[in-house]
Amino acid sequence: MQTFQTFASRLVCVRAIRRFTVRTVLPEALKPLDTLALNLRWSWHTPTRDLFASLDPELWKKVHGDPVALLGSLSRKRLEQLAEDRALVAEVRRLDEDLRRYLSEPRWYQNDFDDADKPDAVAYFSAEYGITAVLPQYSGGLGILAGDHLKSASDLGVPIVGVGLLYGAGYFKQSLTRDGWQHETYPLLDPDNLPLTLLREADGTAAKVSLALPGGRTLHAQVWLAQVGRVPLLLLDSNIAENDDSARRVTDRLYGGSADHRLRQELLLGIGGVRAVRLYTRLTGAPTPQVYHCNEGHAGFLSVERIRELVAGQGLSFDAALEAVKAGTVFTTHTPVPAGISRYGTDLIAEYFGGGAEMDGIPLEKVLALGAEDFEGGNPAVYNMAIMGLRAAKRANGVAQLHGKVSRGMFHQLWPGFDVSEVPITSITNGVHGPTWVDPAFAEMVDGRLTPEQVELGEGFLLTPEEGGLSDGELWRMRGRLRSNLVSEARRRVRKSWVDRGASPAELSWTDDVLDPDVLTIGFARRVPTYKRLTLMLSDPERFTRLLTDPERPIQIIVAGKSHPDDEQGVGLIQKLVQFADDAGVRERIVFLPNYDIAMAQTLMPGCDVWLNNPLRPLEASGTSGMKCALNGALNLSILDGWWDEWYDGRNGWAIPTADGVEDPAERDRLEAAALYELLEDTVAPRFYDRDAEGVPRHWMEMVRHTLATLGPKVQATRMVRDYVERLYTPVARSARALDGATHDGARELADWKNRVRGAWHGVRVDHVEADGVADVVNVGDRIEVTAYVSLGELGPQDVQVQVVGGRVDDEDHLTEFRVFPLTLSQTLEGGRYAFVGAHELELAGPFGYTVRVVPNHDDIAAVTELGLAVGAHH
Ligand SMILES: *Cc1c(COP(=O)(O)O)cnc(C)c1O
Repeated sequence: MQTFQTFASRLVCVRAIRRFTVRTVLPEALKPLDTLALNLRWSWHTPTRDLFASLDPELWKKVHGDPVALLGSLSRKRLEQLAEDRALVAEVRRLDEDLRRYLSEPRWYQNDFDDADKPDAVAYFSAEYGITAVLPQYSGGLGILAGDHLKSASDLGVPIVGVGLLYGAGYFKQSLTRDGWQHETYPLLDPDNLPLTLLREADGTAAKVSLALPGGRTLHAQVWLAQVGRVPLLLLDSNIAENDDSARRVTDRLYGGSADHRLRQELLLGIGGVRAVRLYTRLTGAPTPQVYHCNEGHAGFLSVERIRELVAGQGLSFDAALEAVKAGTVFTTHTPVPAGISRYGTDLIAEYFGGGAEMDGIPLEKVLALGAEDFEGGNPAVYNMAIMGLRAAKRANGVAQLHGKVSRGMFHQLWPGFDVSEVPITSITNGVHGPTWVDPAFAEMVDGRLTPEQVELGEGFLLTPEEGGLSDGELWRMRGRLRSNLVSEARRRVRKSWVDRGASPAELSWTDDVLDPDVLTIGFARRVPTYKRLTLMLSDPERFTRLLTDPERPIQIIVAGKSHPDDEQGVGLIQKLVQFADDAGVRERIVFLPNYDIAMAQTLMPGCDVWLNNPLRPLEASGTSGMKCALNGALNLSILDGWWDEWYDGRNGWAIPTADGVEDPAERDRLEAAALYELLEDTVAPRFYDRDAEGVPRHWMEMVRHTLATLGPKVQATRMVRDYVERLYTPVARSARALDGATHDGARELADWKNRVRGAWHGVRVDHVEADGVADVVNVGDRIEVTAYVSLGELGPQDVQVQVVGGRVDDEDHLTEFRVFPLTLSQTLEGGRYAFVGAHELELAGPFGYTVRVVPNHDDIAAVTELGLAVGAHH
């Protein structure tokens, strides 16, 4: 093991000299190009990119499709020439108008989403954003998802403001050493040459936020604005002169450094982020958000800052402020893998929120309580940002149905009185931004033939040519074109990688022939945490080699992925894969492409025939790369995990059987790899190579069409964002408004009520339950009537709900499938005792059981689970 330790510890050098970038001054006729370059809509708007490319096609390639860099590199003379080109000037004007229309016209949120409670604005917080390769502020799926969320919100007209950090060196650039180890470099980005503008005060000075650090020090940050279509994205940057060296380095890179370093980043993101939103609102008059969406736990401190605002500004108690804040917060958990969750030592948190560093009105114990693992199996020395996120949010979700279920199990301890199925974490399945991920050539073909409605509903892909649809032959030729693009691109990258690895061009003629544009092409690219099992395909190297080199039906595989530099195992897996791919016997059929990023993904996913995913079930929360493939007619071959578990239907790809329950990990890998080889050998390859007289694989194309028609509509991030708006943002906006009246009486009252209920809960009991209509055998449709006698101690009947929980039981009398129905107060007895009654119709046949429980109830809680309290009957 070598190299990565050294590189991981090398510091990014802070810019000591203030540099000035001379921005190109565009001739009047070309002025709109500035706006077109700065608004990141170009990243998903092909006509705008084509316009930039047309200014200088060679240069466009050289700057890797970066409009700001392109404009910066055009000479004055060239610009003057271009300004004389009337057709060009007309196109500039047309696209400028098109952008203006896009930015101002009413869209779905204004036209079609008719709900009086919808929020005026939503603030969306994320530690990373993947919007375009030009702005490398992401490490993987979480960031890409955040980028796609903002883009789709823009397309739908949802009023979101994004908040994040601007990392001076982004994540890292990956290359390979001669013997196949990952090598990381951290090239510094110059924000002046990125599609960003600095947020400024009216007097032109940079607008700044600051926060206190322990020891009387202060962390300052300026705020960059990335305009993502209609959505502003605020990126905080600590690399400014006001800061000392260590404070300048806070935003040096994504997910780097010590726990202390990452905590400072998260403090800046959460606390500084809220301050940046206030700044933005003040400077632009944008509406104040009612809803705060915490995308994974990194931004959790946003709640502490909002509590502080209410304590300081409105004189609320911490608890009342927490209720007001919680009422407007949505939390999304993104991983069931513990290493994916931000956790800190409580002593570190105490350094930042205790002693001399305490924030006014924010006692350390209250901050600690939010993220404490104070439940069975928890670690009392750990501060858990996911737990904090859940405690500070009114509503929470996982990112696919299976992940919702896994998360409910994982966080069950926070709601100990309830069944795991009742844990209030729902799920909204991830999606991807169509215009970003559908290859432009594919989109052009489809748009030329099908109406937007036919594409949106998917059914257009099932039409025959006679009905105006695409023929198998046309679709197949397009698939071939995308595969061929990928092969050329892969050859270029392989060659470049070998040059970087120190090979001389004379040794590299073989790279011109790696891969074959006619061979079944499989893609596998993702981050490389262990659970994603990058090297599962190498389980049986001989068998795998036979698959690659089969003379009749060969397959070829393109692999890519970065490992976090501190993850020794991940770095080792890459090396193992690269060494295998280096072998002269297979190197033309398997390649590893370094530096997986958005630009690579945009060629790789459309160009593959099959997208392989073999995580250790159920550790993949959702996954989105396979969705991008599906949008381009590539088929998924995946373990039934994440989104695939939900949407695999037997005809849209293949499910690799899992060896769930096999305890020995090596044995499980072996079994699942064998199943993978078998599928490739017996099903996937034969189907791909089974051609008719015209050379078209009919059965394959049937699956392609079915994928486009049925998955196409579901995997869209617009579907996802609509789900968020309808199921989470709007209910949360409603609860936030209910508590944030001028005096916040609602929040004060709710906090008092919760404290009263918690304090008095020990006095709540189910004394006795009577049931009528229960014989040994009853029929579906019969009713049982239940009377429950309960003692409520100091609480009143209006503080609780008494419920029957009834349904099917197993042999051990555990409820397996149940319904909850509330009883109504029928009698007030003496001594704080009450009788509640209700009748329930039996809907399910089979062994039936029921129990009675008491739960707290109040108009302003999201559900009776909110306090995690329940008292059951003992009978
Ligand atoms: C889509 C994408 C990801 C996320 O893919 P998963 O399926 O979640 O692994 C990561 N990196 C890049 C560059 C992507 O485009």
